[in-house]
Amino acid sequence: MQSKIQANAASINRIKDLEQLIIKKDEEILILKKNALTLQQKWENIDHETSTDNFREETQKESSSPKSTFSSANGSPLLEEVSELSPNQLERYSRQLLLSDGFGVAGQKKLLSSSVLVVGAGGIGSTVLLYLASSGLGHITVMDMDNIEISNLHRQVIHSDCNAGVMNKAVSACKAMKDLNPTVQCTAIQQALSYENALDLVSMHDCIVDASDNPRTRYLLNDACVLAGKTFVSGSAMGTEGQMTVYKRSDHDKGSACYRCLYPRANPSEGCKASNITLKSRRL
Ligand SMILES: [Zn+2]
Repeated sequence: MQSKIQANAASINRIKDLEQLIIKKDEEILILKKNALTLQQKWENIDHETSTDNFREETQKESSSPKSTFSSANGSPLLEEVSELSPNQLERYSRQLLLSDGFGVAGQKKLLSSSVLVVGAGGIGSTVLLYLASSGLGHITVMDMDNIEISNLHRQVIHSDCNAGVMNKAVSACKAMKDLNPTVQCTAIQQALSYENALDLVSMHDCIVDASDNPRTRYLLNDACVLAGKTFVSGSAMGTEGQMTVYKRSDHDKGSACYRCLYPRANPSEGCKASNITLKSRRL
């Protein structure tokens, strides 16, 4: 008798679990349909005839491949591609999927299958890394050999006070990115960029971001990007001023400039520590 009651109770619990699972799946399907409907409406509002935007054209071309498992009344390409993202991805990235410049599912899929190497998890790296992680980049490698310092936290917002002095900045940045978006893959490299490792590291990634605080690293990264044929994004700040430039290898081959073409010699006053000295000397 006792064992029968226990068996019945177990069956009832199993049925309840299944009911919960069905409810959860229904909710996921509802989210999927809701996002698909919004995308469909967005698609209908795009002026296909007058658009000259290359990316949009590319997106439309890629989107028109017949891969639909999510049937639609008007056969919207964007709606068809919605099924290629998971319900979690649709919910997480729904706002950027709807960007008016045609980012869409194709753009999100490109992000999800891309890798970026960010050298430096300081002030610039903090901002870059958080946005790369939240936007859904596939793999992010962050490189920094220093530990977190209290005096840097006012601008290096990816790090936490409790880890100051005890945690490496690349490790801390990966932890923060995983907290923000658990689906992103992160690799922390706790060493400096050198002539020995630069070309290998650069070659393994789609895009390279220089968020370092010294000219030596910037020139090294630039040269490795030219050799490996990678796009190089260079960001730097001095005092209250900053600059950001994107160098495409394909443009360099066509006669455009790389970082070394623009700045053949390093500026000795460049860098975080040097910027204080520069500001003081300007005031004098
Ligand atoms: Zn060059």
